[in-house]
Amino acid sequence: ALLSTVDDKTEVREYFNTEGFNRWNKIYSESDDVNSVQMDIRTGHGQTIQKILNWIAADGDIAGKTVCDCGCGVGSLAIPLAQMGAKLSASDISDSMANEAARRAKELGIENADFYTSDLESVTGKYDTVTCVDVAIHYPTEKMSEMVTHLCSLADERVIISFAPKTWYYVFLKKVGELFPGPSKTTRAYLHEEEAVRAALTKAGFKVEREEMTATNFYFSRLLEAKRV
Ligand code: SAM
Repeated sequence: ALLSTVDDKTEVREYFNTEGFNRWNKIYSESDDVNSVQMDIRTGHGQTIQKILNWIAADGDIAGKTVCDCGCGVGSLAIPLAQMGAKLSASDISDSMANEAARRAKELGIENADFYTSDLESVTGKYDTVTCVDVAIHYPTEKMSEMVTHLCSLADERVIISFAPKTWYYVFLKKVGELFPGPSKTTRAYLHEEEAVRAALTKAGFKVEREEMTATNFYFSRLLEAKRV
């Protein structure tokens, strides 16, 4: 299990430094150079981000708070949070992703966000809020609870996490997808049992206070906000 995880991680890092970077950088932008599936994923992901921003805007107290965004990608969440006045510390296992996020932030004149390359397991420190959006899909099932526990250990107040939920329907879709692999082979994708994620949050002393589900044709993401009790 340990070896396969090392392999998974190496594979994920390499993918997001090369083809994965090109693919996802386009999805996470306004580029017209995307196919209909990628456009659908862009829409779904945009909805997840907007739901988080709506929660945070409704709370109205993010200015001056510290936020740690793990697996930040090109900064789709970290950048708007910084624009709302949060102090961002955002990292990604992929150098290409972290550099692109930093480039985008710089272009927007953002100074309250720090972007760096790191596996989320190596992230240290204490932050008011820890976010981890659509990263768990790259985590093998047996590593998921440990990952949630680590995110919780970094958070003083709140953890916001999203993952592809393991329901019979999505398991079915994934099987169908595996039977007909598209032209672009991506990395392995892992769905997660919501109960396992909730159990890890509870064990770490957190309570789920808000939840959302976002689903388009090719994108599905369960979103939980948990607060320290
Ligand atoms: N969170 C971003 C967002 O919502 O826009 C990016 C989501 S993207 C689907 C997944 C990201 O997770 C990629 O940028 C990938 O490099 C990163 N990632 C995967 N495994 C990681 C790990 N172990 N530590 C840190 N980042 C990781």
